[in-house]
Amino acid sequence: MGGQLAFFDGGPAPPAPAEDLRPPAPEAVTPGQQSLWPGLADDRPGRLTDLARRAGDCRACSLREGCRGVVFGEGDPSARLVLVGEGPGRLEDEEGRPFVGPAGQLLDRILAAAGFLRREVYITNVVMCRPPANRVPQPDEVAACLPWLRDKLAVIRPRIVLCLGALAAQTLLEPGLSITRARGRWHEREGVLFMATFHPAAVLRDPGKKRPVWEDFSQIRSRYLAVAGD
Ligand code: SF4
Repeated sequence: MGGQLAFFDGGPAPPAPAEDLRPPAPEAVTPGQQSLWPGLADDRPGRLTDLARRAGDCRACSLREGCRGVVFGEGDPSARLVLVGEGPGRLEDEEGRPFVGPAGQLLDRILAAAGFLRREVYITNVVMCRPPANRVPQPDEVAACLPWLRDKLAVIRPRIVLCLGALAAQTLLEPGLSITRARGRWHEREGVLFMATFHPAAVLRDPGKKRPVWEDFSQIRSRYLAVAGD
């Protein structure tokens, strides 16, 4: 894998999968305090499709009133690597797919440069409905949507989870965590490796974050290859 940062400088993004998986309305839980792995998965594609179908009817928080629909996530239902962002933006809401706007296009380039096909990972967000004016989701909204994320991860059972940005890291790792201090470090939880890095949107705002993000993805790739043969 090359160590250059060329993927930040534009160029065509790799083709995205056509899948549009949508998901349920379990009880709200407190971020960082609930088990992410309630059970083993058998039929992962089928279970994920069922989860997406149920989530499409979710009205567990007020975000659903202001968006077009639930953006469940997409990718390989058996992915070893799951990426978790913050929430859908305008384009994601319009298309019903995660990470398709400018930040998503940058993420596509980062993934490609790191040696990943977008379709071999799974991409989702902490909240599945677009917050008004793209504001940061509120704690009650995160808590309401966390069971969906927990169930999604329980079905996919990834080996590695990459938190894109502070909200994902605070939700899945530790409330109040500083993304600047926590990024690039491995955390293990219930046999799953977690890492946090800056959100691609933050990289677009601050080019100084390019190198640390690249270093984090390099670590992710190395560990991904190591677990691929397990
Ligand atoms: S953001 Fe999550 S919890 Fe809130 S309505 Fe949408 S799917 Fe349900």
